Amino acid sequence: MKFYVDYFGCRSNQAEIQEWILELENAGYMLTSAVEEADFGILNTCSVTEKAEKDIFRYINKVYHKADTRWVITGCTVSKEKARLRERYKNYCFFDNKEKENLVESIKELFPVEDNIVYHSAFRSRIFLKVQDGCNFRCSFCIVPSLRGKSRSLPIAEIVKKARHYSALGYKEVVLTGINLSSYGYDIFPRENLLNLIKELKKIKALEFIRLSSLDPRYIRYSFIKELSLIKKIADSFHFSFQSGSDHVLKRMKRGSKTLDYKKILDHFHRFFPEANFGADILVGFPGETEKEYLQTFEFVKQGKLNYMHLFPFSPRRGTKAELMEQLPVPVVRDRLKKLKEVNKEKRIEYRERFIGKALWGILIEEKDNYSMVITKNFLSVRVPPTMGFKRRKVKVKILRVINENLCEGEVIKQPVRRSRVRAASGGVRRTQPISPGSHIPNQ
Ligand code: SF4
Repeated sequence: MKFYVDYFGCRSNQAEIQEWILELENAGYMLTSAVEEADFGILNTCSVTEKAEKDIFRYINKVYHKADTRWVITGCTVSKEKARLRERYKNYCFFDNKEKENLVESIKELFPVEDNIVYHSAFRSRIFLKVQDGCNFRCSFCIVPSLRGKSRSLPIAEIVKKARHYSALGYKEVVLTGINLSSYGYDIFPRENLLNLIKELKKIKALEFIRLSSLDPRYIRYSFIKELSLIKKIADSFHFSFQSGSDHVLKRMKRGSKTLDYKKILDHFHRFFPEANFGADILVGFPGETEKEYLQTFEFVKQGKLNYMHLFPFSPRRGTKAELMEQLPVPVVRDRLKKLKEVNKEKRIEYRERFIGKALWGILIEEKDNYSMVITKNFLSVRVPPTMGFKRRKVKVKILRVINENLCEGEVIKQPVRRSRVRAASGGVRRTQPISPGSHIPNQ
């Protein structure tokens, strides 16, 4: 039985999708990248912005009227709009966030398989590993805590077990994700923390890189940064949920941090990771954001140590405090967003140019006829001349030029010994090629 997957939203949603793929494949289902040949589809939804929600309704509408495939739809939009969705799309199955934990079991009941063959889709180089869900904060613009509940962390032993399983499947990099990753372990008794988790994960030999998704500045301490820098496997790209560079806006957002805290965090990180790629979420056009406040954010990102931004135009979410605040005119938000996008582009290019002529470690993620792609440890995409048989291997690349704000050109200067040769020398064990139905997971 074939299934198709898609998702909207954050890394946590992506991590969940990856986990379901592996579980379903182990149970005898086969992933397909063609929706029309799937027996059922799975969609993981997001309600973080109004736009995301509208896009989801548009998406469901389209598949509902175009294809016969049945869909299993889950995630934040279902938690928020279950009755409306059920009413509108009668033969689809909807599971809210609470029901997500048993999603694979529910799918097995809805779409039973008879054979026990395990289909493994093409190995990817990195996997998102969800270690935490929910959030205890109440930022005034955010709907997520009411849809995902309080912070819950997985025990370290369980995460290590999963990571070992993934590395045995061929994954070289894990990206630790959570709704509020930095709060990892605070809800566990005895209390745990992100650093302890990373220290355990680094022991997995086949795992080359451990990457962290967005970090909440409220949890970051000097000692955390210092100890992190001693862990060689930590990928040196760090993303922070800053949201604004204006103290007044941050106060109205109820972020509990100030720009001075942000500057200190960036200084400390920069001290221990001088070459790292630093990024932040920035919410543009928060209610009441004055020209002065916007310019403070503009200067903060332009002059500061950030190398890129994820920019989001503010959209009010029902039931949040920010919904009741005075909204800015749409053209003002659009104009501010446009200017910040230009800064973002400049910063991204500037950062990439720093590495021209330098060598960086990375994982070779794609081999095509006329080129191969490497993602470096500091998260640069580098196009290199075609290679053969090095996919998912750690390589060293020299950066030759910057093509645009998203892409560099380079050459592989150090390749690992090809596994097939090593195996042949030690008895000629042949590697089983994975069945490759393709994948619909973006951002690999
Ligand atoms: S920290 Fe704030 S923005 Fe992030 S999930 Fe929690 S409430 Fe939302």
